[in-house]
Amino acid sequence: MSYCVFCGKDLRRGGDFVKNTDGVILCKTCVSTANDIFIRKNASIRNGVQAGSKEGKVDLHQIVKEYSPRKIYDALSEYVIGQETAKKVISLAVYNHYKILSMIDDTDVEFEKSNILLMGPTGSGKTLLARTLSKILKVPFAIGDCTSFTEAGYVGDDVENVLLSLLIDANYEAEEAQKGIIYLDEIDKKTKTSSNVSISRDVSGEGVQQAFLKLIEGTVANVPLTAGRKNPMSQQMVKLDTRHVLFICGGAFIGLEKIIEKRTRQNMGIGFGTDPQPRHKADYSLFHQAESEDLMEYGFIPEFVGRLPVKVALNGLGKEEFIRILKEPRNAIIRQYAKLCEMDGCELVFTDDGIEKVVDVALERKTGARGLRAVFERILRNDMFMLRENDRKEIIVSGDYVEKQLQMQEEDFKKELEELSARNEIETKEELPAQESPAEMIA
Ligand code: ADP
Repeated sequence: MSYCVFCGKDLRRGGDFVKNTDGVILCKTCVSTANDIFIRKNASIRNGVQAGSKEGKVDLHQIVKEYSPRKIYDALSEYVIGQETAKKVISLAVYNHYKILSMIDDTDVEFEKSNILLMGPTGSGKTLLARTLSKILKVPFAIGDCTSFTEAGYVGDDVENVLLSLLIDANYEAEEAQKGIIYLDEIDKKTKTSSNVSISRDVSGEGVQQAFLKLIEGTVANVPLTAGRKNPMSQQMVKLDTRHVLFICGGAFIGLEKIIEKRTRQNMGIGFGTDPQPRHKADYSLFHQAESEDLMEYGFIPEFVGRLPVKVALNGLGKEEFIRILKEPRNAIIRQYAKLCEMDGCELVFTDDGIEKVVDVALERKTGARGLRAVFERILRNDMFMLRENDRKEIIVSGDYVEKQLQMQEEDFKKELEELSARNEIETKEELPAQESPAEMIA
């Protein structure tokens, strides 16, 4: 026998394989795929992944029994600060989604999927919301970044990679993956622009939206079991039907507020035909009034807008929320760092002005709550680096401490840059061929 019993690959033309005493052959790809499956399965049993489901399977009835929309909201609130409307709307949409899935085989009523569009500034918790949902409900989850989706008109490689991530998160079980959630980030970067309307292979707009549309509505995709496939013939493929996958799309939608403002002003008969006042900063409070027509004007095709029936705006987070984010979530940054220090025998104490200073610095970065961790990383770097050596028992993070640490970082950085440029200068000098002096050349 010269064929792999699993995938049927003909091994006469080469390729590694294992053979048992009866001559049964398994090719290298199938062996490594099987190995991956075992590793994932063992890890999920150890970590209790999908524990709310029976024996690693997503149990739709169990989800509906265990979680009301209110309970989903409460569980989300343990991790996501603020964004009250978004949390409520999403909790209800997701509850309905799984309720429908749990009875889909027993009803002849046709339901539309409650795919969700999240609109809000960067670092406001869009990805966090989607990820936390999947964690609470213990369903497979994957994130795709739309800026990397380039192929037009069909479901391309990049999309397959998202599906592969989902499949991996479901322990390679297609049936489980099909009940999962996919978060598509930066969806606002895939609007059609008037400039590329005439180009047939439209890489940044309508073509990609059409591909997304297929994916969201439901397509049976052949997913190669390894990312970045080179030779599809030598790949194992798994069929994945996306009909029941819940899609959550997110984006910052910069500029959408101008469209909303223009429409609302026109509707109210104020300043008809005049442009709204120019603004330097997106006013996200207007996003709560976003309608399908605004999204179409922004550059989405109507069918795509229609497939995302649940549209939610997230607020820009301010100082008060930043302070709460530092302290309150179950995985709050302060708790994480305090635990890390505690493990080295040091107590990490935060004063109120220390926390305020961290928040102010993070706000200046304009990357939303994402900036908070970055600031922590910087201010605690030096002391945590030496913690084991100097056996320190306490670090007090006060306003002065934060300022001093940031200043030290800046000085270190400057010094490093100076050293680097001095070294480069020496190296460039050494590389230059020795020049004859003008006097010698004349002679
Ligand atoms: P985006 O809206 O750009 O998708 P993320 O959800 O990725 O932002 O947020 C980045 C990080 O900032 C999160 O991992 C989390 O630590 C923090 N964060 C953002 N928003 C919130 C929030 N509302 N509550 C708690 N933490 C948040």
